[in-house]
Amino acid sequence: MTLESRYKDVTERIAQAAKTHGRELSDIELIVISKNHSALLVEQLHGLGQRHFGENRDQEAAPKAAETAGLPGMVWHFVGQLQSNKVKSVLAYAKYLHSIDRASLVSALAKELVKTPINIKGFIQLNLTDDPARGGIPPNELMAFAESVALVPGIELQGVMGVAALDRDPRIDFETIANCSLQLQREYPRAKFVSAGMSHDFEAALEFGATHLRIGTAITGNRNL
Ligand SMILES: *Cc1c(COP(=O)(O)O)cnc(C)c1O
Repeated sequence: MTLESRYKDVTERIAQAAKTHGRELSDIELIVISKNHSALLVEQLHGLGQRHFGENRDQEAAPKAAETAGLPGMVWHFVGQLQSNKVKSVLAYAKYLHSIDRASLVSALAKELVKTPINIKGFIQLNLTDDPARGGIPPNELMAFAESVALVPGIELQGVMGVAALDRDPRIDFETIANCSLQLQREYPRAKFVSAGMSHDFEAALEFGATHLRIGTAITGNRNL
């Protein structure tokens, strides 16, 4: 399969799943995760109409964003764990940060954002496992953490983000994410977005209200760099 046929296939599957689950296609943003692929692939997908792209490492994302900066309408999303010393670099190209996952990152963001007129659209990353080493905010700590995020003027809180566990039905985790989202929206009505769903589970994520799909290999092919 070519890049174009994989892209078409995924966008058709998204449209079909949206229809099945009574979702408006205009409420769903496809973010192509381009990690381990070249700027050329980003350019090719841009030529097919794609505008939202995501990366998980600043070392790779910063040069790729620079290389593709001339393409009109590009929107970069940062989806990986963000080290505090990379915050400044990421804020220079990313419009969305999907992985606000700890208090020290909120502090680092606050410190950087007071110095610039930049805003970042941010998702709080949930930890859906029992393993604290996995990073992210446990669902029962979401509201306290959200309060600290909401206090930072430069962060526009978008909602919650999660990665479903691989060893069980992803619907279990997508339901947890959906419940967290409802809880968050009661306090912060504008934080209504849900970043969930990857190559192997985006259709299930759409069933549970995902608005921002982060899809890599199903479109890009295997990561090879
Ligand atoms: C790599 C990555 C994705 C995309 O994964 P695929 O399985 O290739 O679709 C989504 N979200 C995050 C946080 C990632 O790091």
